[in-house]
Amino acid sequence: MTKSIVLLGSTGSIGTQALEVAKHLGIEIKALSAFGNHKLLEKQCREFRPEKCWISEEHYQNLKTALADTNIKVLTGNEQLCALASETDATLVFNSLLGISGLSPTLAAIEAKKKLALANKETLVAGGSLVMKAAFENKVDIIPVDSEHSAIFQCLQGQQKPEKLILTASGGTFYGRNRASLENVTVEETLKHPNWNMGAKITVDSATLMNKGLEFIEAAHLFSMDADKIDVVIHRESIIHSMVEFTDGSIIAQLGSHDMRIPIQYAITYPQRRSSLAKKLDFTAIGVLNFAKPDYENFPLLKLAMVTFNNGGIMPAVMNGANEAAVALFLNKKISFNNISDLVISATENIRNKAINSVDDIFEADLQARQYVYSKI
Ligand code: MG
Repeated sequence: MTKSIVLLGSTGSIGTQALEVAKHLGIEIKALSAFGNHKLLEKQCREFRPEKCWISEEHYQNLKTALADTNIKVLTGNEQLCALASETDATLVFNSLLGISGLSPTLAAIEAKKKLALANKETLVAGGSLVMKAAFENKVDIIPVDSEHSAIFQCLQGQQKPEKLILTASGGTFYGRNRASLENVTVEETLKHPNWNMGAKITVDSATLMNKGLEFIEAAHLFSMDADKIDVVIHRESIIHSMVEFTDGSIIAQLGSHDMRIPIQYAITYPQRRSSLAKKLDFTAIGVLNFAKPDYENFPLLKLAMVTFNNGGIMPAVMNGANEAAVALFLNKKISFNNISDLVISATENIRNKAINSVDDIFEADLQARQYVYSKI
């Protein structure tokens, strides 16, 4: 089992829960990193005593001064972030960075043959083919942390390749609403997710169904499945976290309370299991589980992701970059909720597709998509 971890993105929702789990399991923290929240990172450093920590240049001096009385090495810059993931004797690199910023550290960890727990779905959306090729060549296990992908990963242990993956979706904050009624929804309303306690960006993605679209692409790469072998089913209760169907018609599902600490812990203890901090399920209290078709018309980004995956090339990176930019603008109250999908769709229609030959092509596509979105505001 994992004895020590490098945790990238330790101050976000997944990062803080990963630290809770690490503490519960008695796992050593070798390094921590965060982009903006230097106060929380300092607190985490004092509690978990890593050898190193990393922060963005903007907050570097603050953190260095704050930790001057410790022997924790404070680092900054993209090269050092990648070094954190690759030059380590930790048994697991846990990547819970947000967005495209997770791509370079993911590749660095894989090239250094580090076992990788991946919560950073944008890495696989934008750079899936490069990342999976590198993982295959370096014989690196990528253990998914996203609840749906952890579910599928768990269902597939000891199994042959399935016929179909069935991704479940909560439907997000605005399930059942039509597009016209969403024109004036506020950021505050959007962030009230019915089931999951998550960061702001993913909660907005969940409300637009972009999150399920990103997860669709993530699943296609992780489990090397064709797009027509992945179904999405709305399941409002978020009790079944996803399913796999085999050729004999058998379906295996993974169930559990909607608590991210379960998939986080499984990624850390895999292939073993330990008692967890999460509440156990009580079926008699749940009573009924419901399923429905996704509403592709009022929430067009799920379908867009499916089409974009099939188009391949830089298009998933364009979609992801445009979405990151649009969601940030929405969270800063610069655009409306419906503008998010308008801008993402428009970016994929107006930027010309091309093949990905290197990681630079991905960053270029990402930048192009962001610039496109900003140019429309
Ligand atoms: Mg998920």
